[in-house]
Amino acid sequence: MSDQKRVRVRFAPSPTGGLHLGGVRTVLFNYLFARHHQGDFILRIEDTDQTRYVEGAEQYILDCLSWCGLIPDERPQSGGEYGPYRQSERKHLYAQYAKQLIDNGHAYYAFDTPAELEQMRNSVANFRYDHSSRTQLRNSLTLSADEVSRLLEGDTPYVVRIKMPEDQVVSFTDAIRGEITFETSQVDDKVLLKADGMPTYHLAVVVDDYLMKITHAFRGEEWLPSAPVHLLLWEYLGWKDAMPQWAHLPLILKPDGHGKLSKRDGDRLGFPVYAMNWLDPRTGELTKGFRELGFLPQAFVNMLAMLGWNDGTDQEIFTLEELIEKFSLDRVSKAGAKFDFEKAKWFNAEWIKRLPVDELLPAVKNVLAQHNVTHTNDAYIEQVLRLVHDRLTFINDFWQQASFFFVAPQQYDLDAVKPRWSEQKTAYFNKLATCFEALQSWDAAGLETVFKELAAEDNLKTGEVMLPFRIMLVGGKFGPQVFDIAALLGKNKTLDRIAKALTLIRE
Ligand code: GLU
Repeated sequence: MSDQKRVRVRFAPSPTGGLHLGGVRTVLFNYLFARHHQGDFILRIEDTDQTRYVEGAEQYILDCLSWCGLIPDERPQSGGEYGPYRQSERKHLYAQYAKQLIDNGHAYYAFDTPAELEQMRNSVANFRYDHSSRTQLRNSLTLSADEVSRLLEGDTPYVVRIKMPEDQVVSFTDAIRGEITFETSQVDDKVLLKADGMPTYHLAVVVDDYLMKITHAFRGEEWLPSAPVHLLLWEYLGWKDAMPQWAHLPLILKPDGHGKLSKRDGDRLGFPVYAMNWLDPRTGELTKGFRELGFLPQAFVNMLAMLGWNDGTDQEIFTLEELIEKFSLDRVSKAGAKFDFEKAKWFNAEWIKRLPVDELLPAVKNVLAQHNVTHTNDAYIEQVLRLVHDRLTFINDFWQQASFFFVAPQQYDLDAVKPRWSEQKTAYFNKLATCFEALQSWDAAGLETVFKELAAEDNLKTGEVMLPFRIMLVGGKFGPQVFDIAALLGKNKTLDRIAKALTLIRE
């Protein structure tokens, strides 16, 4: 492949359900590679398997990509020079290539009915349609040419299968794994064209990667066993020189490192595996997503980038721009990457701390709206955010950490103050309320000075009155610096809360 060729990569999902985080990582690596090389990133919907097609799955994939900010340059919705981008709409393109392969002796018609194949499977242990069994089956290699023509003309259902060579060794150089070699006798004669006229993945991926001028193809490691079939198809179709550079990405593993992370692991261990909530229209089952749990797209993307890639330093926090600049395939590891939910949460907390508050505002307003708080001005929310953002793991934690800034506490942790309460403290807080009332200006430093001076006058240690003051304002033993809270709440609310809590404490 010449170096001048414009880089073109594709993400090629099948619309069969929710988008696993491994899928989003494949999107991300495609996107980073394309942007790094000023190339094109294509979304191609591989919907040739009508039996697995799920309504809404394509839109869901697009929504996930938009949420992550990884927008393809060419996609079914907006089209492009190499469309259509849905394989079902390209159905008419594939048969000619299947025919070409048959004419060249690299593929054949197989007329075996599903029932016949089922019978073979039941009677022959580990039955495979391959070089050893095809000689005993009903196909254009065993039937006479006349019989084949008669069957084809009579509209007998058939599939087209690749004729895998019996004893050839094929190899290619994977951009991550280096040279990989296969023995063709180990591979069965995969179906290329199905009885409904649709291509299988094997034929469609090769034809479309060719027609769409894909230069680099990144896909999960689970596709490695299919590589010899694809390699031979590129060769048999006469396109070998145009074959994309393949990179089989490492698996994302279960937290214990044993096997591929599945949706079921997420259910079992209590964390999401899908990018966004996915409601399966067939079963009504809802699978939770990272977005709805309160992940920021920046954190989700950053976390995914680090699953199998690093820039060679200890740096872990990267913006998308930095990732684009630094991404290279030679730093993608061969080994599977263990998924660690605690680490994923750390990325989110870091991103919440780092993002300017105005960027967090929409998500926070969403959280507030869920709790029926809608009439608050943005400037106030931003001030609250500045005080609490380093305490949030998820955006949704905002309510738990900051609800008292918007509504008075519903409950007070009185057990934390009552046992050590005294009339001296009642007197102190009454005096404090009077002094606060008289203040001309209302800021944290001023409040702290008054608070401490009064405590000293009353021979109270600051610590003895600080916790009760916090509980009066917040309801519990948490939250930012107490004078910052009072300053932001304002005079009226602070005085109201002191008065209300004093009554409760003394009840
Ligand atoms: N349609 C395949 C999938 O859903 C795509 C594999 C590839 O990228 O070649 O995983």
